Amino acid sequence: MSLVAVLAGMPDLLERTLSEHVPDGRGYCRECRGPSGVSATWPCLMREVAAEAQSLRTGDLPVTPRSGRHRPLRAVPS
Ligand SMILES: [Zn+2]
Repeated sequence: MSLVAVLAGMPDLLERTLSEHVPDGRGYCRECRGPSGVSATWPCLMREVAAEAQSLRTGDLPVTPRSGRHRPLRAVPS
């Protein structure tokens, strides 16, 4: 199961992720800051994952369109 699908199934964690991973006004994420003070550029990976999880919940298509029909994100080979 992808991290997107996991987050989509945990609305509380999804909400927290979306509220914590916000830009600091200089193009960096407030949350993704290492001990040395180095920040991830905005939007950070977690924010992109959370945004995709939210679009999965709301039924919107992912922000990265591909040609043809979408393969459902939940589809996992068994
Ligand atoms: Zn972040």
